[in-house]
Amino acid sequence: MDRSDSISRRVAVQRGFGAMATVVMFWGAGSKALAAGNKLPKPAVQYTDSGAQKGMDCDDCIQFVPGKTPKDMGTCKIVVGDINPHGHCLAFSPKPKA
Ligand code: SF4
Repeated sequence: MDRSDSISRRVAVQRGFGAMATVVMFWGAGSKALAAGNKLPKPAVQYTDSGAQKGMDCDDCIQFVPGKTPKDMGTCKIVVGDINPHGHCLAFSPKPKA
């Protein structure tokens, strides 16, 4: 292992902790928003209409409320507005496995 591998690993670990801290922060914010009867705006959780990772779309998230059909837009318990079943955001929380 050379010095550049060590630096790359350090950067990856720092980014991982940064991403986890962001999710925890927004999860906490989401809980407060729910307690106040409000939802988070999409930009606050970096919502996107198309998720980049299989199995991490909105329809795989415990917060997703489906539309009339699996292809219809749904809603989210903590994010405001119409939610694409194939969207994604930082507050993604996987559904429990059946
Ligand atoms: Fe809501 Fe985000 Fe989960 Fe999508 S990924 S359902 S926007 S919490």
